[in-house]
Amino acid sequence: MSLIAAEGIDKEYQAGEVAVKALKGISFEIAPASFVSFIGPSGSGKTTLLNLIGCLDKPTKGQLKVADTDVLHLDRKQSASFRGSNIGFIFQDFNLIPVLTVYENIEYPLLMVQSAPSSERKKRVTALLDAVGMIDQKDKYPDQISGGQKQRVAIARALVTNPKLVLADEPTANLDHKTAYMVIELMKTMRNEFKTTFIFSTHDQKIVGEAEIIYMLEDGEMKGKEVKGGNNNG
Ligand code: ADP
Ligand code: MG
Repeated sequence: MSLIAAEGIDKEYQAGEVAVKALKGISFEIAPASFVSFIGPSGSGKTTLLNLIGCLDKPTKGQLKVADTDVLHLDRKQSASFRGSNIGFIFQDFNLIPVLTVYENIEYPLLMVQSAPSSERKKRVTALLDAVGMIDQKDKYPDQISGGQKQRVAIARALVTNPKLVLADEPTANLDHKTAYMVIELMKTMRNEFKTTFIFSTHDQKIVGEAEIIYMLEDGEMKGKEVKGGNNNG
């Protein structure tokens, strides 16, 4: 069984008069609880591909199933609701809300996309604060914590709705190497704990080695796949 099944995906952007072929004939399958990286130089199509998997955009051609749902045929409202219950997002520049505390940032998706009773919210947020090692910082505001700590909060926020899949587009691009490595390790720990599939993109060779499955993108094409530790699942 696969969590994501992509077949023959093309994505074309119209930039004025010219069409840009951002993805060409991309096919792959990703199993539940995988720890995957998309690697490739700038412009190779990583963000485009993550946006398609995250139901933020649609392919020009091909088939795409996420969590047994044919996401190509969802309208805008259905896509939003699908994202809210199945997908968490982590961003390069953290995207924490500056006027909310660490605790409130993590709680936010539960208030916005899922309605959980307050006792349940508190339980989930506290468990995640603990899991990412930020319980002592819960009342601080984003500008009072470091970049690495912000990304820990963002990881907790991505997981608070209990999604099947977390997508992280260059989550370590604004972090030094040691912190970047710790953030990837924390994502892996969260995968082990919650069995959530993580997909992160990077062009950093030093951290990509932490992934268990690596897909190499070049010029919009899938150039290769590397599987580590015999975990060959699609
Ligand atoms: P990466 O994330 O690997 O840097 P992207 O997915 O952002 O790559 O971009 C892939 C290609 O698609 C690039 O040639 C880029 O210029 C182009 N592209 C991305 N977004 C758009 C857009 N909205 N309009 C036109 N071209 C785009
Ligand atoms: Mg990108």
